[in-house]
Amino acid sequence: MATNKLDAVIGQQRPRYILQRALENERVPHAYLFYGPMGVGKEALALEFTKALFCQSQEERPCQTCSSCRQVSTLSNPDLIYFFPSPKDLKVEDERAVLQSIAENPYAREKPWSNPTLGIDRIRYLRKACTIKSVGKYRMIIIAEAEKMTAAASNALLKILEEPPENTFIILTTDKLNMLLSTILSRCQIIQFGLIADAEIEKRLIEKYQVDAERARLLSRLSQGSYSRALEWLDDEFEEKRQVAITLLRAFVKDFQTRIDMAEEITKKYDKKAMKEIFSLILIWFRDAFLLYQGGVQSQQLINVDREDILHRFVHAFETIDFDRAFTSIEHYTQLIDRNVHQALLLVCFLIRLETVLEMKR
Ligand SMILES: [Zn+2]
Repeated sequence: MATNKLDAVIGQQRPRYILQRALENERVPHAYLFYGPMGVGKEALALEFTKALFCQSQEERPCQTCSSCRQVSTLSNPDLIYFFPSPKDLKVEDERAVLQSIAENPYAREKPWSNPTLGIDRIRYLRKACTIKSVGKYRMIIIAEAEKMTAAASNALLKILEEPPENTFIILTTDKLNMLLSTILSRCQIIQFGLIADAEIEKRLIEKYQVDAERARLLSRLSQGSYSRALEWLDDEFEEKRQVAITLLRAFVKDFQTRIDMAEEITKKYDKKAMKEIFSLILIWFRDAFLLYQGGVQSQQLINVDREDILHRFVHAFETIDFDRAFTSIEHYTQLIDRNVHQALLLVCFLIRLETVLEMKR
């Protein structure tokens, strides 16, 4: 008898166990909802599960080598439909580029658009596809970031969930459960995904990308449980971005004109995605500063452990730091990056806001 082993994904022991059991007992529900933070492997496990379901091996599934497994890996299996949020008029070549990035690494899907949605046209396509017989025994439909479905799309999907076509399985993924219709939730088996342990991310970075041990450790901590984030930060510009984050935090003591020049220079150099990364680094910086500020912290609890001396100087430079306000401001400005806002202006406003958070020693 074939056994199922979904161990190509990182961590997620419990979701893997639940899915393996379902496969072994041949009791796979029509619809799953994979719920959990971004970047922890919901889509990666959805694909591994699909492989196991389609795999032709009589031994261990997924075997990764049979034609079905390989076709799922490259997202070219005719029985697999994979949807992700996109602009309304998605171009074929753009769709292909994103699918390609998923095939290369499901943890590192390209997200080239700022406000993508899943529209009714996608679900209409699904409906039509489901009327045609699948090539193999089963059909799998994966809808990533399902909370981005429009109201019309949600209602149309609900109809499919109410009368699921035979031998068709649906996996929705989301990090925002409350944005989905309760009627959709009640028709799915919900599997909850957690953050990935630092040690597991660290190990994978070393094994797969030959990252040196010290850097792997730092990246795994900075990633805060998201393997996707660790991969994003694997690029060469990482140290540079971290330096930009620190420079920005020092900028607010400078005069107004200097801050404007600085904001223009930085936003000219970095795109929105990079800006968001810089803001996450600022957030993590404040998180470390908060620990130091409270006192009694041990070095290994810090994320920026290699910058401990600078962190100390930062914390001691101020009379008070309003951390609550700091955290909410950083999150607020991070969200604004995606909006249609003049980026340099946004950064200047952020630097002004910092003045209200940090009170200098006199
Ligand atoms: Zn196989």
